[in-house]
Amino acid sequence: MKADRFLLGVFVVVAAAAVYQGAGLPSSEWGPRLASLTALASTPAPKPYEPQSFLEAFCEAPSAAVCDGLGATGLEKAESELSEKLNEEALANVARGLGVAVPFSSGKIYADMAMVAHQAGIAPSEADVLFTEELERLLTERLGFSPSQEQAMVSTLRSALTDAVNYQGDVQPDTTDWKALAERASQPVAFLSASEFLRKGGPVKPIKGFCGKSLERYNAFFYQGKTGDRLEAVVLCPGVSLRALAAREQGRYTPDFAKQATYSLLSHELAHPIDARKHPQAYNNWMGCARQAASENSTLPVTPRKLSELSADQWSAETLAMLVEQGKVSREEVAGILAFGSLNYCLMPERKNGTHPDGRFRIDFKGRNPRLRQALGCAPLPPTTLSCGVEGSTL
Ligand SMILES: [Zn+2]
Repeated sequence: MKADRFLLGVFVVVAAAAVYQGAGLPSSEWGPRLASLTALASTPAPKPYEPQSFLEAFCEAPSAAVCDGLGATGLEKAESELSEKLNEEALANVARGLGVAVPFSSGKIYADMAMVAHQAGIAPSEADVLFTEELERLLTERLGFSPSQEQAMVSTLRSALTDAVNYQGDVQPDTTDWKALAERASQPVAFLSASEFLRKGGPVKPIKGFCGKSLERYNAFFYQGKTGDRLEAVVLCPGVSLRALAAREQGRYTPDFAKQATYSLLSHELAHPIDARKHPQAYNNWMGCARQAASENSTLPVTPRKLSELSADQWSAETLAMLVEQGKVSREEVAGILAFGSLNYCLMPERKNGTHPDGRFRIDFKGRNPRLRQALGCAPLPPTTLSCGVEGSTL
């Protein structure tokens, strides 16, 4: 194993030297670049994933277990390289379907699509549908992960979320607000793929914003149309499958990656219709605890938007706990959902005027949810650690 790594390191250095020489780089600049490449090549291999030891590490230090133990940075890099290749292939298929052949370049795929659509005399929305459909079809074929499986996941998660809200409603002093919350939680929200969303008249803007211009982002979003537009849906970005495929081709993770990532994203998005910004009264107890935890972690303002994201994360934790309690999902499966479904948070720092709190803090906050900890068999937290259940602080 060590010998392989050394050989790989040598190969990378030789190849890089040739490239830089060809590009006419002054020899004085080779040194630092070669040194950083050598360092990259000799990065130790991440520890193999094992559910039980991951859970132990997660109970102890949630974000460290997710972000440090698995070498997330290297994974992201490898995945983005593969995602570009896959996007090019999907794009070539779409271009063939349109009967137009143009040279495409990665990184501006969406712009190229618009150009193709313009040349072919097709309206942009139709080109958007074609592009997303083609990508989704390609990914479904390669992964064997069908839309009906995703729909089944949504029903499981939705019923667990409704049960979790009802459970909390029973112990809340203010039953009026919690009744409203439980009723809202039980109302169905459409779960749509990106192409179905466009077909139903959903705008392109949120897709580009949340999924990326070439749909490559590992993300999902909850959409609520403005007055007059009744469309309300949770949309899963094709980037989730794209990453799963990339990870699988890397031989790094289990074939369940797409399932785990989907569970994690959907359990958060399905909670947005009942988040703290839409129903602030129901969160009176929780709000103080969450605000304190967030301000201990950052000097940036704790906005209502950030609190709404944290409340959706809390419901995601409560939903996963409920699934374990009801015997619908095993602890090992939840370990996979937390380990692989939270990977994208590792690389999401809090931004000034941003909508989400720091990604690593989000993992820690979720990992300190009392109910999830109990369901996973975690030891109690030290009494000085702030832990916020949906019902409020446990301190
Ligand atoms: Zn959110």
